[in-house]
Amino acid sequence: MSRSESLFQAAQAHIPGGVNSPVRAFKGVGGTPIFFKRGEAAYLFDEDDNKYIDYVGSWGPMILGHSHPAVMDAVRNVMDSGLGFGAPTAIEIDMADKVCEMMPGMDLVRMVNSGTEATMSAIRLARGYTRRDKIVKFEGCYHGHSDSLLVKAGSGMLTLGEPSSPGVPASLAEHTITLTYNDLDNVREAFAEAGNEIACIIVEPVAGNMNCIPPVPGFLEGLRDICDQYGTVLILDEVMTGFRVSLTGAQGYYGVIPDLTTMGKVIGGGLPVGAFGGKREIMEHISPLGPVYQAGTLSGNPLAMAAGLAMLTALQEEGFHEKLSAKTELLTQGFEAMALRHGVPFTTTQVGGMFGLFFTDQEQVTCFAEVMKCDADKFGRFFHGMLDEGIYLAPSAFEAGFMSQAHTEADINATIEAAGRVFARLAAE
Ligand code: PMP
Repeated sequence: MSRSESLFQAAQAHIPGGVNSPVRAFKGVGGTPIFFKRGEAAYLFDEDDNKYIDYVGSWGPMILGHSHPAVMDAVRNVMDSGLGFGAPTAIEIDMADKVCEMMPGMDLVRMVNSGTEATMSAIRLARGYTRRDKIVKFEGCYHGHSDSLLVKAGSGMLTLGEPSSPGVPASLAEHTITLTYNDLDNVREAFAEAGNEIACIIVEPVAGNMNCIPPVPGFLEGLRDICDQYGTVLILDEVMTGFRVSLTGAQGYYGVIPDLTTMGKVIGGGLPVGAFGGKREIMEHISPLGPVYQAGTLSGNPLAMAAGLAMLTALQEEGFHEKLSAKTELLTQGFEAMALRHGVPFTTTQVGGMFGLFFTDQEQVTCFAEVMKCDADKFGRFFHGMLDEGIYLAPSAFEAGFMSQAHTEADINATIEAAGRVFARLAAE
């Protein structure tokens, strides 16, 4: 038995399902999760001393690669002064200034401890600011696990939303309207009926939780127009895209400025951080300035601020995102060429440093229903084939992949060669 296998057994004794977040359990791809003990640059090392080229990057934060010296040093430098005080520190100002300087739609920003907290707080703020209860989200987008967001569409567009998890009150879920990603007509229809009751639209500007689905041209711009027309708050959930698709987030990349932005992952440099912020006029409604309550004992933790700040500073190096994007494209193009060579129906998407892999013969995949038509079983076999080759991809057909600065051209070429061998086996099935 491998050490990962025995650790997974041991983990089940006192951890539900052996994991502290469900996607880690390998449910979608089968098999035993790998237990890692060390990360360095583009590589992860497991408890059995196997080495992997990593395209998960802790689900996004590790855009510089693992254990980047600038980030590690920044944490070490503040650590000796104490781990947190629950009181203001100077480094929080540096962080807020930096984020507001980088993100176009950001006048004020509040730090929290996860993406879930960021989106939950932004939605409360949007509701408090507009004095409306309904919210709009899109099928296949994930915004964390707060009650209002664990909701699926009812049978008709405007029929009451239904909880997608036990424990979410139906009386809360009924305020959430779930629409089709990349379908503006669907949004226009919903707003024609209920627009004046809708507090906010929350959307992933590039969807990264149903594989990786970029917005079709005009989609985000259309959402901006509709929100302006109805006095609805536009929230871009940039937990995944922020600082990854470009230095200025997806909002800078696509030129669509939201009212509120939520962030996570990269902003914490690998430590638990989230943030939400946006227009001054709206943010001034948050406590202690305004009446909408939001708080956090550990928020703005100095270690987390130091890690995030060091990471954001490193990203400001000239040409960082151009290089990251070019590497990601090299990988996705290489995968496509290999799939074509071996006759495996397959396509990819890529925006900046994030990418998607689709086992499908559909020409394009633009929404959740189309993602669901892809061959998730084949992805599972691809995943395990790649894992055997020492390549760690996201253990689910419904997650995006992440490139880092630390991946070398040699790493990427080795990954493409490995994919060629795995595609050949899939073709022979
Ligand atoms: N929003 C988006 C777009 C995300 O991708 C995620 C996490 N994958 C979240 C929110 C929730 O973040 P967290 O897991 O830190 O709570």
